[in-house]
Order: sequence, then C-alpha cells, then structure tokens
Amino acid sequence: MTVFETLESEVRSYCRSWPTVFTHARGSRMHDENGRTYLDFFAGAGALNYGHNHPLLKRALLDYLESDGVTHSLDMSTVAKRTFLERFDEVVLEPRGLDYKVQFPGPTGANTVESALKLARKVTGREAVIGFTNAFHGMTLGALAVTGNAKKRAGAGIPLVHATPMPYDNYFDGQLPDFIWLERLLTDGGSGLNLPAAVIVETVQGEGGVNVARSEWLRALADLCRRHDILLIVDDVQMGCGRTGPFFSFEPAGITPDIVCLSKSIGGYGLPMALTLFRRDLDVWEPGEHNGTFRGNNPAFVTATAALDLWADGSLEKQTTLKGELIERHLDDIVTEHAELGASRRGRGLIQGLTFADTSFADAVCARSFEDGLLVETSGFESEVVKLMPALTTTEDELDEGMGILANAVRAVRAAA
Ligand code: PMP
Repeated sequence: MTVFETLESEVRSYCRSWPTVFTHARGSRMHDENGRTYLDFFAGAGALNYGHNHPLLKRALLDYLESDGVTHSLDMSTVAKRTFLERFDEVVLEPRGLDYKVQFPGPTGANTVESALKLARKVTGREAVIGFTNAFHGMTLGALAVTGNAKKRAGAGIPLVHATPMPYDNYFDGQLPDFIWLERLLTDGGSGLNLPAAVIVETVQGEGGVNVARSEWLRALADLCRRHDILLIVDDVQMGCGRTGPFFSFEPAGITPDIVCLSKSIGGYGLPMALTLFRRDLDVWEPGEHNGTFRGNNPAFVTATAALDLWADGSLEKQTTLKGELIERHLDDIVTEHAELGASRRGRGLIQGLTFADTSFADAVCARSFEDGLLVETSGFESEVVKLMPALTTTEDELDEGMGILANAVRAVRAAA
C-alpha cells in the first residue's frame, strides 16, 4: 500500500485513472519515477494552456522569487498586481472594447463562480438563477446548485436551491425551437418561475461532455437576457484563455456578457488565480464585502503577465484553430474507421470530444491510452466522451503522435471487446 492509499482521502480521483507517480514535466510531456514519459492531452484540466513549465513564464517567476518579490499580499496593492492589471487591460480588455472592472476572488474556478452569482443577486435583488443541463460550475454550494451532474450534486448533503436548469443547445436534438420553454416561463405569470437574477452558461461544456453551443444559440440567449433584464454570466473558467481559439470563448458569437468568470489558465503556469470581470455599473460591492485570504497570489500575477505576452501578436489564436483542425482530421479518420461502433466527434479549437454508442468504451480507450503513454480523460455524466485538451503550445508532431496513440487504443479496445 502506498502513502496515497493509506493516508490520502478516498476522494482522490485523477490518480486512479493514471496510477503512477509523476516527477517532472515540460511542455506537453510528463515523466514518472519509473522513467516513463507521457504525452499530456489533459493540460491540468485546462489550467495548463501554455504547457508545463513554459520557459518564458518560468524565467519571470524565478526572477521574481529571487528578488524577494512579495509572494502573499491579500488584496494589498503590489507592483506585480499593478503590472498584471495594466497588461491585462492593454492586451485583453482594451483591444476587445470590453469596459470591465476586475475582481480578484479566491483563486479557484468555484470562487469566481460564487462571486459572480453573489454579485448578480446583490445587483438585482433577486435570488433565482438559471443554469443549463449538463453544466459544470464547481463544487461549492452556489456553484453546485447550477451544476447538472447528479452525483456531484448529491455530495452537497443539503438542498441546492434558487437555481433552475434549462435545456442547453441541442438538448432536444434540434426538435424544439431554441428557448421556447424559458421564454414561455418568463412571460407567463402563472409559470412559477421567479424572475431570475442571472443566467450562467458555458459556451462549450467541458466537464458535461464537450457540448458545443452554436453562436446563434448564444446570441439568442444574450438577446433573451437583455429583453428580460437578466444578467448574463459566461463561465469561461475552462474554455477561456484561448482554449477554443480566441482569448474569450464567447468572442465568435459577438456577445458581451455582463459578467465573466476566469480561472485555470489565467495564472499561466498552473498557479492558482481567478478573475471575475463585470460591467463597470455592476460594481456595487462594499469594500471587503466579498473577502478571502488568497486573492493576492503575486507569483501568479507575474506568470499571468508573462503569459499575456504570448497573446500580443494574435498568432496563438490562429495556431490554435489550425491545431484544432489537425485533431479534427485525425478524429474523422477514427470515426470513419469505427463507423460500426457509432463513433462521432465534436468540439471547437483545442477542446475536442470522441464518443461511441457504447458509453463504457471511452473509459476503456482512456485506460489503454495511458498504458501506451498518453494522458486523456473522459467527460460527460457517464464518462462517455474521450476529451482531448492538449496545451495550446503542443507541437503538430506531438499532436500527430498523441492522435496515433489514441487511434491504436481505439483499435485495441475494439479488438478486445
Ligand atoms: N467552471 C468550469 C466551467 C469548470 O470547468 C470548472 C472546473 N472544471 C470550474 C468552474 C470549477 O473550477 P475549480 O475546480 O477550480 O473550482
């Protein structure tokens, strides 16, 4: 028995899928203590969009630490925070015409979601929030209330209240007009739905099965929110920071959310950091009203600032689109080869999913991929989707190599079935 089994809680999860002990990592490769190397198509669940230990980010971090730069500072003003805010405005907000205020909540995705929900409720004086089927927003009570997965919800142990789920894009396979149900509930005084404070949505549902919302669906949602005076929150915790191509995943839809949640890759290096962005007029917080000890993780501000340099010339977005297309071509080959298994693919940019008619197949493919040196996880309620999420910095050769391992894994699992 290892110390992980004797001492660490049964709650541990990823180490069960990948039963080895990792030592070091660089770019898209991780190494274990047995000397084996793995291609990482998981990228810290979206926290490592720039790969492991990116040399430019590491240099900035080491320089900062060596100079005894402030590490922890709650929300005191520091040079590292000022530099980040100025650079974030210059590289991200200003070029996109986004006049957002920036809140530093606690450093996790769930922290930014909680702050967004709380702010929406404070601004509107309403308590109801609309979430979507198969959504994932985090494990704290407010975020869980707008999360779909029944197993995760059950973990709360108390009723999850003030949230109503609505069908996500394509939930009825295109058989019903978009938003027919929500629009009706909002206009019918007898519906039983209190006017919501906010709608919270992911543009692509990462944990919920790589479900991609169409741009026209997102635009119709933004329009509905505007007409009914409901705040629109986009949770870009997993799909933001370039995962789908553009810095924000909602850009191609041409919508401007009232509130945006960012975490995971915003720190750049895998260091904990989150942002809640909102329209200037929504900034009704009292000083200290939403506090927290770890809102000033300066090493993360430093690596976050260095990561923004990678966005300065626009090439990252183009590269991500091209690399996404490369993965799609590999997936199309797998889908064609295994048409009898009901294989299909979906995704956008460097978030891609592969499914099979037999929902247990994806798990077996991921397990086999690990044996052959590729880290990929599943997503969806039944773990029915192979979810491919390599770092944006993964080279084309590495993408070809990883997709080759995946294609072989599908063949091997099929042969053994
Ligand atoms: N929102 C989304 C869309 C996520 O994918 C996640 C994490 N997978 C979260 C929120 C929660 O983030 P964290 O695990 O850092 O609390």
